[in-house]
Amino acid sequence: MSAIHITVLGSGTSSGVPTIGCTCEVCSSPDPRDRRLRPSILVRYEGHGILIDTTPDFREQALRARIERIDAILYTHSHADHILGLDDVRPFNYRQRSSIPIYGMDETLEAIQRVFRYAFDEGPRESAVPRLDLRSLNGEPFELFGQQFTPIPLVHGKSTVLGFRFGRAAYLTDHSEIPEESKAKLRDLDVLFLDALRHRPHPTHSTVEKSIQTAQELKPSRTFFTHICHDLHHQKTEAALPPGVHLAYDGLEIDVEPVR
Ligand SMILES: [Zn+2]
Ligand SMILES: [Zn+2]
Ligand SMILES: [Zn+2]
Repeated sequence: MSAIHITVLGSGTSSGVPTIGCTCEVCSSPDPRDRRLRPSILVRYEGHGILIDTTPDFREQALRARIERIDAILYTHSHADHILGLDDVRPFNYRQRSSIPIYGMDETLEAIQRVFRYAFDEGPRESAVPRLDLRSLNGEPFELFGQQFTPIPLVHGKSTVLGFRFGRAAYLTDHSEIPEESKAKLRDLDVLFLDALRHRPHPTHSTVEKSIQTAQELKPSRTFFTHICHDLHHQKTEAALPPGVHLAYDGLEIDVEPVR
């Protein structure tokens, strides 16, 4: 398999950083790494582009990263910060002259059909809607253009959501716990993304301290924290992290080591 290239499109929590109306040190920081759009990554290999989640910032993210094609969208779950930009995939429908397959758990796809009902209504339309093919994930690994993707079930407060492993990388955004059966699928990783909202505990998200423990347990070569809120100043937080553990930031590009 060829090299996998990851672009961090957004590293922020649901409200983004800066938070509207906030004048804290992080929200007023001049460091571009302290400006965080909502959480998403783009995975590219062999000329294909796989998007994980469509955030409310998707249009801005696609322009900023100069995304030229999207061959599939994988959904972690249906919270607003992970789905609300879906309408903005329309230019990719036009450019590629095709619908885009979207993958997720049944409950995620049902929520998307509820929120974007106009895109799934039958009959004549007066204006363009996103054209999408629904692909239900039953927990089994699936293949996209020669690369295997493995859904990784995660606990996110009271819900179950998905992370994804592909090659020697895994993207685990929103979670409060990683079940033991899921940890077994996260061995021998080069790159691991983990939710690390802030230092203080939160009912549905992991913390910096907890995700450091996860990294030390799973031992990937490199760990990147994401879904970060305005409690974490990039430079100061990064300086206090152990070797091999980093805060992700918007625009970060990572090449994943190939499978040995
Ligand atoms: Zn989220
Ligand atoms: Zn703030
Ligand atoms: Zn969530």
